[in-house]
Amino acid sequence: MATTRPECLFCAIVAGTVPSTEVLATESVYAFRDINPGAPTHVLVVPRTHVTDAAALGPEHGELLAEMCVAARTIAQQEGLSGGYRLVFNVGEDSGNSVPHLHLHVLGGRRFTWPPG
Ligand code: 5GP
Ligand code: ZN
Repeated sequence: MATTRPECLFCAIVAGTVPSTEVLATESVYAFRDINPGAPTHVLVVPRTHVTDAAALGPEHGELLAEMCVAARTIAQQEGLSGGYRLVFNVGEDSGNSVPHLHLHVLGGRRFTWPPG
């Protein structure tokens, strides 16, 4: 399961061969600022191993998924998002998913509407 893909942008970001602005790093996840932020705080939390998207997750990924959510909470605390934050996994074309390496969007610092656009 401990795989990376040489052609994958977020695998390259995790490896450090593509630069990023680090927000949080743990043994299993890496978090960095989105290059095109949709909110004052817009951070992407990714597993260090390559997983395509949330639809590829199974029971064996339970711990990883929890770690991604714990990372999001820590980031929210670091960023002072006391009013709350939004977590998003995009899956597939209709969602606008553009990078095929699992990433949790952590958005905050402004009010969001529901449903999203
Ligand atoms: P998706 O649309 O797949 O859910 O989200 C992909 C996100 O990755 C987008 O919000 C996009 O701005 C961000 N992104 C794409 N390329 C890069 C990059 O090279 N560096 C960083 N930091 N973010 C990126
Ligand atoms: Zn990857």
